[in-house]
Amino acid sequence: MVEVEGKPLPELDPVEADTGIDLGLSSYAVLRGRKIASPKFFRRQEKKLKRAQRKLSHCRRGSKNRHKAKQAVARLHARIADQRRDFIEQETTRIVRESQAVYVEDLNVKAMGTRRGRLGKSVHDQSLGMFTRTLEAKCARYGRGFVKVSRWFPSTQLCSRCGALSGPKGPARLCVRTWRCGCGVVHDRDENAEANLRAEGRRLLAAGSAER
Ligand SMILES: [Zn+2]
Repeated sequence: MVEVEGKPLPELDPVEADTGIDLGLSSYAVLRGRKIASPKFFRRQEKKLKRAQRKLSHCRRGSKNRHKAKQAVARLHARIADQRRDFIEQETTRIVRESQAVYVEDLNVKAMGTRRGRLGKSVHDQSLGMFTRTLEAKCARYGRGFVKVSRWFPSTQLCSRCGALSGPKGPARLCVRTWRCGCGVVHDRDENAEANLRAEGRRLLAAGSAER
């Protein structure tokens, strides 16, 4: 897709065409009415990278093999960066085209903390910050609302219908797919979280306290 620099896109209905964006748990992102799956290449490339790094660590210092192994690792890093950038460009462009405002959980730390704290950031986790920054820049360029919702906002636990904190908490929220609130409604975890982010984002946008 060709993007025209700095030209605002046609305005969309602010109520029909806004979305919360829940990042980085079971899908890459959960949006209003659709999900972005985690790209398979993240996992694939990560395996390759680990293998290449292991090989490098077994090569003697100053050896020819070490030099070669080093180059292989660098090539992989470059390829991963390219694929990540392409993926993010494509997805953020689509979001900006179809949304008048986006409400993103500010959670660069969430995915790390819950999944692979000790192992360091995965290729997937590393991409989340870039995704958010790219999306923010595009929203500014094309006249879309962009709101960051605090990472302390309990988007998963809140019942989007009655407001009770009845949803899955802590590590449990990773395996619970659906849950029933005391008010009787059965929630899909991800869709409920998106609805909560959307409500909170709208509130912040209306209050004018949102980062633009
Ligand atoms: Zn409820």
